[in-house]
Amino acid sequence: MINKVNVGGIDVAAYQSIDELINSSILTIEGVQPGVGIAINPEKIMAAKKDPLLMSILQSATLRYPDGVGVSYVMSRRLNSKVARIPGCELWERLMVRSIEQQTPVFLLGATQSTVSQTSEKLIALGVNVVGCKDGYFTKEQQQSVIDEIVDSGAKIVSVALGSPRQELFIFECLKYAPNTFFMGVGGTYDVFTNKVKRAPHFFRALNLEWLFRLLSQPSRLLRQGNLVKYVYYYLTKKV
Ligand code: UDP
Repeated sequence: MINKVNVGGIDVAAYQSIDELINSSILTIEGVQPGVGIAINPEKIMAAKKDPLLMSILQSATLRYPDGVGVSYVMSRRLNSKVARIPGCELWERLMVRSIEQQTPVFLLGATQSTVSQTSEKLIALGVNVVGCKDGYFTKEQQQSVIDEIVDSGAKIVSVALGSPRQELFIFECLKYAPNTFFMGVGGTYDVFTNKVKRAPHFFRALNLEWLFRLLSQPSRLLRQGNLVKYVYYYLTKKV
């Protein structure tokens, strides 16, 4: 039984490791669990408080996991036991590797043509059963043909990198046509996987300071990170 903790109005599942999440919620002994996985971090929680569409998107996900240290910390305190932080990009990479065991068919959507092709080649070289890939630069009119391509591919895992909230909106539309598939939004993960964008160095990651690294390397994020400060204030005053 997986514990859930309400953080700012959103139930988030508590896992002890990435593999525990995959075994119990995605690649279970009954096969691939269909649905939608969404990473929950303080920025999203604060944004959802002001944006009913985002809130309903988050609440419709079948799997919500703590991607930011701010969320896993609050959960650990409430449960009185350690809850793992599950960075979305690490979950995706591990899921790709774990999909090799049963040769689960995977479809990759999003990012530029060169990035998604390189991602696909790299995964195929590892042994992943990639049944299709498509860049994320298509129009609204082309969306249905993208959905058809995914359905026709027979994929059971689809990762979607279109940026938020577009990727989530796409996923819920596509799920209607592929109800037996697991979808996850992965943001800029393919860019990191193909070394186009660097993740924070180990030093920052080990100290849970990835957010600080991003702020230092991209000061324009300061505005977005204002939400992080608000989140801490809300936590201290027991509003999340
Ligand atoms: N992207 C896309 N189509 C678009 C806009 C963005 O495929 O119309 C891709 C972009 O190339 C990147 C990914 O979406 O690989 C994530 O973008 P961003 O970093 O802006 O999103 P975030 O992770 O901050 O939500």
